[in-house]
Amino acid sequence: MLVRVALPIPLGRAFTYRATEPVARGARVLVELGKRRVLGVVIELEVALGDLAPDKLKPVLAVVPEAPALPEELLEFLLELARYYVAPIGEVLRLALPAVERGAQEQLRRQGVELRGVGRLVQVARAREGAAPVGLRGATEELWRALLEQGPQPLTALEARWKGARRSVQRLVALGAVELERQAPRGRFDAELPARDVPPALTDAQAAAVAALTQALDEGRPQPFLLQGVTASGKTEIYLHAAAHAAALGRGAIVLVPEIALTPQLVARFRARLGDAVAVLHSGLSPGERHHMWSQLRRGQLRVVVGARSALFAPVERLGLLCVDEEHDGSFKQEEGVRYHARDMALLRGARAGACVVLGTATPSLASAALVAAGRLRALRLPARATQTAALPKVELVDLRRVGPAPGGERLLSVTLYRALEQTLSQGEQAILFLNRRGFAPNLVCGACGDLSECPSCSVPLTLHRAQGARLLCHFCDHQAPPPSRCPRCGAGELLEEGAGTERIVEALERCFPSARVARLDRDVAAGVKSEGVLRRMHAREIDVLVGTQMVTKGHDLPHVTLVGVLNADAALGMPDFRAAERAFHLLVQVAGRAGRGERPGRVLIQTRQPEHRALQLAVRHDVDGFIEAELVDRRELGYPPYTHLALVRVDAVVEAEAAREAARLAELARAVGGAEVLGPAPAPLARLRGRFRYRFLLRAKLRQQLRPALLACARQLTPGGVRVSWDVDPMSML
Ligand code: ADP
Ligand code: ZN
Repeated sequence: MLVRVALPIPLGRAFTYRATEPVARGARVLVELGKRRVLGVVIELEVALGDLAPDKLKPVLAVVPEAPALPEELLEFLLELARYYVAPIGEVLRLALPAVERGAQEQLRRQGVELRGVGRLVQVARAREGAAPVGLRGATEELWRALLEQGPQPLTALEARWKGARRSVQRLVALGAVELERQAPRGRFDAELPARDVPPALTDAQAAAVAALTQALDEGRPQPFLLQGVTASGKTEIYLHAAAHAAALGRGAIVLVPEIALTPQLVARFRARLGDAVAVLHSGLSPGERHHMWSQLRRGQLRVVVGARSALFAPVERLGLLCVDEEHDGSFKQEEGVRYHARDMALLRGARAGACVVLGTATPSLASAALVAAGRLRALRLPARATQTAALPKVELVDLRRVGPAPGGERLLSVTLYRALEQTLSQGEQAILFLNRRGFAPNLVCGACGDLSECPSCSVPLTLHRAQGARLLCHFCDHQAPPPSRCPRCGAGELLEEGAGTERIVEALERCFPSARVARLDRDVAAGVKSEGVLRRMHAREIDVLVGTQMVTKGHDLPHVTLVGVLNADAALGMPDFRAAERAFHLLVQVAGRAGRGERPGRVLIQTRQPEHRALQLAVRHDVDGFIEAELVDRRELGYPPYTHLALVRVDAVVEAEAAREAARLAELARAVGGAEVLGPAPAPLARLRGRFRYRFLLRAKLRQQLRPALLACARQLTPGGVRVSWDVDPMSML
């Protein structure tokens, strides 16, 4: 039999091999590619010979003995995804195979076919169902009760609580009351199972949304929903009910969240409600843990997955529900390799798998809003916060052109924001200050010649950081340099620190409010565990003011935060991107949503120099629908998505002329092929990155399929050595 095999290489096509033993679709096979032996996935069976010469076909060397790596549903979805993004099928399949598989390739090459589970396993004690051992005493009895009441526990955890726990467990095993199993060690998210929680009585709006979802699940009619609920309206509660209902019907669920490291609370709520059936996929997992989780999913032992965008590819059996929390969030778009958007692809997988998709947000993306308008998403609404006492916060604009600086002349804080902080602190409440810029100062400028310190390999200024020793840092390529004491160009001027980043705000606060406990949360702090520490301290009210970037806007539920300050709304509004207003609006509503989630009302102050801007005016009124409506009119007039479809073709090279020449050639080709309008080529706004000059052109079309011929033509071109070409369908970043 001839089969087609996708190989993990950046080529758009699959290869035909001769199989001598039976093989299933989705199975992994070892084959030869040139002189290399690689592991591929069978994507098609009984391929016709066509014009291939039979004696030229290489054989399949070995079939990995296991259930097919990719279930049919997932494989079909991935093939469709590859088509959608005009992406190499081998690369797309890699999205869905756990990391351990890649390592296994090496192993296979050396040893033959055997694939072994990698990674350390721990022993877990579990009470056998229906067991009722008699005559237990002391620690053994306590331990037995604990297993009954709290569910399975790692042996190490039991040993920490009871001396001689190991012997007690052995005794219980001998009595047939307990079984030991080996599991991958639990990561930091699930060290122990949180106590079961009791679902709150649903509000009327929640009940109606849950009813719509359970009905769709019961009827087995796949349907996508947009769950639009103001911040703290109880959207998570809806996902929980829907996931529990899906599980009761024997179907699995995937819940995607923007940044899992920042949402331990949400994960804990899933585990508290659904218990041990919840798998948490996050980047902190070791390959072994990942592999173990993946095989448990594959065997249907785990039914619910919570994770960031890549969890979309989890091999959940009988997928019934796909939730995308904060669907408007930019982190669902992967910006390297296969540039997919997890929200768009969730709709695709859901439709194919016969699963309900729930996109949840307080601020729908214009893309989703347009789908509702077109009747392709059904809208569910939660118009009020879940608890009666928590009203939406009062949002005010602070016009920096009119309002003076804080006492002492601190220009970063307006006097209005200063007074509000003073009041919040005196009442023992908490505040969040948001600034979308990390570091101390974004620019270092010579006072004499005006020279700006730029990154040697990128066309962007270097940011001055102070917190871990003074240094200049490129936020694009991570280039670091010590800050010069004099201007490197004219040698004369003193260097001025222009603008402000989060570090500088912290410093200003410490000056203005010496007794306040101030902390910072941004990418510099947030490397892993530290961000959780900051959030934990915030919860424990050991922090009074939290200063941070985007990270502070994400789903945290902090009931004692009554003040939110946005230090510079204009930065977000001024981005060179047709989505700038949309992003700024999302950001403002989300960050404002952190205020007043508890019993005391919240207040939000937005500092700006353009208070008349529509995004700000509508954010003040919490008018999400008004914003969407007005913005959609503009998009239609300007011919931008969601009313057209875009693809961006990027060309980069070390030598600028080579990038320019290749971009011109491909754009010409795209024009000749036709179907889509070609805009450009032109240098990218970020003209140089990591030492490479960047050119790009845009394809625009009314219908998505009109983009395809030009993209395929570009994809099939051989490009000169040293020149890189990539394409981005539905680009989110215009840089
Ligand atoms: P969202 O996801 O919309 O931001 P959450 O689901 O986090 O909102 O809910 C906000 C807060 O309201 C949480 O503390 C949650 O426990 C609480 N909550 C949600 N639904 C209810 C309800 N029906 N009754 C009481 N409290 C609720
Ligand atoms: Zn750089």
